[in-house]
Amino acid sequence: MAETGLNAAALQQELQEVEEAIRTTPDPATRTLLHRDAAYSAMDLGDFPLAMTHAVTGLDTARGTHDLSLQARAHVTIALVMAEVYDDQGAGKHLREAEDLSRLARDPRGVALANVNASHYEMERRQYEAATRRLLDLLRSPYVSGLIIPDPRVGPELQQSFHVNYVKSASRALDSRAPFGERQAEVEQQLEQSVAFLHELYDGRRDMAVPRILPEVLDALASDARYHQDWERAQAYADERVDLSQRGGIDAAIGRALHSRAELAAQRGDWAAVIGDARQAAQLFGEAGQELRAVDAWQLVADALAQLGHDGEAFRVQRELTSRAAGMYRAFLQQSAQLRLIEQQAQAAEVRAVAMAEAALSDPLTGIPNRTAAMQRLHALHQAAADGKRSSAALLDIDLFKRVNDHYGHAAGDEVLRGVAAAVQAAIRDTDSLARIGGEEFLLLFPGLTADEALGACERVTQTVSQLSWPGLTPDFRVTVSIGVADIRGDETPSDTLRKADQAMYGAKAAGRDTVLAAL
Ligand code: GH3
Ligand code: MG
Ligand code: MG
Repeated sequence: MAETGLNAAALQQELQEVEEAIRTTPDPATRTLLHRDAAYSAMDLGDFPLAMTHAVTGLDTARGTHDLSLQARAHVTIALVMAEVYDDQGAGKHLREAEDLSRLARDPRGVALANVNASHYEMERRQYEAATRRLLDLLRSPYVSGLIIPDPRVGPELQQSFHVNYVKSASRALDSRAPFGERQAEVEQQLEQSVAFLHELYDGRRDMAVPRILPEVLDALASDARYHQDWERAQAYADERVDLSQRGGIDAAIGRALHSRAELAAQRGDWAAVIGDARQAAQLFGEAGQELRAVDAWQLVADALAQLGHDGEAFRVQRELTSRAAGMYRAFLQQSAQLRLIEQQAQAAEVRAVAMAEAALSDPLTGIPNRTAAMQRLHALHQAAADGKRSSAALLDIDLFKRVNDHYGHAAGDEVLRGVAAAVQAAIRDTDSLARIGGEEFLLLFPGLTADEALGACERVTQTVSQLSWPGLTPDFRVTVSIGVADIRGDETPSDTLRKADQAMYGAKAAGRDTVLAAL
């Protein structure tokens, strides 16, 4: 079997490459997934603030795509970072958000992802029965297809994580005689099937999704062997996981491997082995800043010492543990508070970004959409035209506008621009749109109407404008507009359409202004 597993230097390298890719990738959907990868790498490296920054930036990026499934995935990433620092409430909130969005998007993959991850953090809290029931329910639900649907964006990782989580939670729940009642047989049967799946993975008959899953597979198979009291097999898996993690060189991963081997030794009553592994695990967790795990491991050490009758030493370790607790809880609160702060700042930044995005699309003088917004809409109508949906566009230019400025001043000119925009906006239907695309030039879009059909609406616009009165100008002053209309054709570009409408508009000027003309 190929040597896989986590390696600190490789992770650091991977993180740098992902961050570089984020800087150079324009596509927001791809960038969202890159932020997720970066968050996972940062978490593996123990840098939770960086992980959270990537997670929330990922969500922000996902929101820009209007893809609900992608947003759901970004929520899952945030949840995982929060769960890692024991912010249950925060993690739960984001997982529920993820599940809701996925259901809205009718995305089985997203629902499955939210549940597999929810089971992971139930297990972290030793809620093995709840995790087992959740996974079994997922398997019996219509969303089960989400586990196996091939998805190039996530690969076979989810199915593999499902079986890892199921084997870990079900074997532990069964081991502690969780009351499954009438589902007992079902739980056991699925355990056999999931174990068989993991054996295929372990034996290399199935491709491993990511290197980080191998230690998990070993851990799951060891739990199953423990449940069947096959100590030899359990020990072999535990040993292999320790070797693998030691080659990887990540303290927290080595600590987890040693800790599970210590638990196994405790079950067998090999107290000397417990002390050796658990003490080392505790020190590694301490160095990795994972205090809660360190405390768990010290507890194993203290229990083993007591079992061996070393009461004095057991008491000292226990007292050390108690004194750590206060500091530990303070550190946890600080860390989750810090991550919450990053999350909140990102939300505030998003509100600002939305406001800025809206501002970027509107014209400050008239308050109607600007050129950028108009071009986006025109582009969309071209795409719709390629699918057979007809539409038309019209260019409107105020006649002899220079005279207004020259005779009445620039402020009066601005007033006319605002007045014309408001009057035209009121004269068209809600489904039509108006934008200011230049000094005294406007673009009208008529979805669903051909140029011929839009002529009527344009005539109404010219009439409306010519009847306006302008209190700031001389009493009988009339403002008129000239309009050129063109069909939006699927086989032409937006520039083609604008050019045709412009030509028609100049035709209208040549024909005496205050006129509408359709392009040839
Ligand atoms: P035509 O009927 O041939 O279109 O005549 P026109 O005077 O409208 O032609 P032209 O396009 O040469 O003039 C447009 C004028 O619009 C020139 C410019 O000073 C004025 N203008 C452009 N933007 C603004 C603006 O934001 N405010 C004001 N007050 N005037 C503007
Ligand atoms: Mg002009
Ligand atoms: Mg003009």
